Amino acid sequence: MPELPEVETIARGLDKRVSGDRIESVWIGSKPEPLKSPATTIARTLERTRIEHVRRVGKHIVFDLAAPREKTGRQWIVHLGMTGRMQLALPETELANHTHLIARLASGRELRFVDPRRFGRLEVRRDSFAGPGTEPLQVSTEELTRLFRKSKAPIKAALLNQKLLHGVGNIYADESLFRAGIRPRRRGCAVTRAEYARLHTALQKVLQEAIAAGGSSISDYVDADGEEGFFQFHHRVYGREGEPCLKCKTLIKKIVVGGRGTHYCPRCQR
Ligand SMILES: [Zn+2]
Repeated sequence: MPELPEVETIARGLDKRVSGDRIESVWIGSKPEPLKSPATTIARTLERTRIEHVRRVGKHIVFDLAAPREKTGRQWIVHLGMTGRMQLALPETELANHTHLIARLASGRELRFVDPRRFGRLEVRRDSFAGPGTEPLQVSTEELTRLFRKSKAPIKAALLNQKLLHGVGNIYADESLFRAGIRPRRRGCAVTRAEYARLHTALQKVLQEAIAAGGSSISDYVDADGEEGFFQFHHRVYGREGEPCLKCKTLIKKIVVGGRGTHYCPRCQR
């Protein structure tokens, strides 16, 4: 499942490649699952628009579109789900299995949405899409503390709650808690202000480092070019159960918190 850094990398890659291009026509497949808006609405909203900008909101890719003689913008929102990917291809490039949408661009290229497992979602809107929670790269220490101190849930579960922060997934939640020295099972309301300050710093650093590395290669998707685009983010606890902690050599433990596999060092995290 692509997490925030991967989605950021994909959105930046797409922004570089397709901003300024125009969507001339759209083909949509017959599978209903990927379509959060009706097929005809998607086609009508995308066709004959200019791609102004591609950006990430939470774990969504947002295409800001401009239509001639229209003051308000339109938006195409893509959620990659588990296995979704955006492919930029030439028309002669063989169509991948499970292609659900093709946007034909004025430059002659095609933007294709491919998703074998169909957990991805395509949506169009005519307002500004902000997502349900607060953006983790923009949240302040005070705001993070205020949001999380109300929570009786384990801090790990609160980090994954998309209504609080938008876009933090399993890997980066574990990595941030390790760097902040906080046990994943501690309740949000029991974490101190000083610890929230450390968590805020850790979360920002982990996400920025992962974005700089091009996201994590842990998922089996490819970037906008169809190339394996990602370097392995250097995990300190995630996926390292039974291996020695990089700080203190204690063996990393794996437990389940909120239904998700959770990795931590019993000595460094309190
Ligand atoms: Zn340790």
